[in-house]
Amino acid sequence: MTEQFDLSGRVALVTGGGRGIGHAIAIGLANAGAAVVPSARSTDEIESVADEIKADGGDAFPVSADVTNSGDVKSVIDRAKDEFGSIDIVVNNAGINPDNTLGQPEDVSSESFDRVLDVNLNGAYEVTRTAASELHETDGGSVINVASIGGLVGLPRQHPYVASKHGLVGLTKSISLDWSPEVRVNAIAPGYVSTELTEDLEGNKRLRQSIINRTPMDRFAEPEEIAGPTVFLASDAASYVTGAVLEVDGGWTAR
Ligand code: NAD
Repeated sequence: MTEQFDLSGRVALVTGGGRGIGHAIAIGLANAGAAVVPSARSTDEIESVADEIKADGGDAFPVSADVTNSGDVKSVIDRAKDEFGSIDIVVNNAGINPDNTLGQPEDVSSESFDRVLDVNLNGAYEVTRTAASELHETDGGSVINVASIGGLVGLPRQHPYVASKHGLVGLTKSISLDWSPEVRVNAIAPGYVSTELTEDLEGNKRLRQSIINRTPMDRFAEPEEIAGPTVFLASDAASYVTGAVLEVDGGWTAR
């Protein structure tokens, strides 16, 4: 049975793969046997993730790229293919939710709104379509979009983020239809995970407690808890799963 989860011989690109959830996903995919291309805008963090994978006997090739720059996106796909010969798995994890986009709709500038959409939605779209031929050429190509519970329900004072993640869920479902049966396209919807993105929330005692009270599992997730579900979706164990959104939210959306 464990063979179904084996990713040996597969190559995985992980955007935003330098820290937080992307770091945990990169390590998880490498532990399952995949060669990993961690990618983010700056090099320090992705180089350290690649070193960590190689120190453990895995294969990794860090490539810096901004997902909002189509030249960068083309370059990361080309370089990953040159290095490892194929791209089998794309994890669209790069995402932002900056302070200047938290608030009432009338207080957020349209430029700030656009920036969130650019990274979280357009970036994932650009990476996915640029990797299209590699994903179709390989046997069992798979895309995993890291959405959010904010892709399934509204969250107060986070309308740009929620709009971007709802868009990402829609993109997942639509492209899964277009690319089936050759390439599977799924999304993960994490709840609250302890990373730099949620540092401010966790630092605010009242807010942190209200989130925990609302979460049946009574805690934030650790980034590593998003890795297993991602490995599952990338693997043959999920060979009949496409167009799905897998909630990894400690029961948050079950209420
Ligand atoms: P994080 O801030 O720790 O990591 C985000 C990563 O994305 C970083 O590596 C950053 O360099 C990269 N990134 C940002 N803009 C980029 C760009 N333009 N081009 C390339 N890379 C870029 O945050 P995280 O919590 O690890 O978030 C990862 C993903 O998980 C995001 O898509 C986020 O929306 C999603 N998510 C997070 C939570 C949470 O509670 N932390 C919950 C649900 C979904």
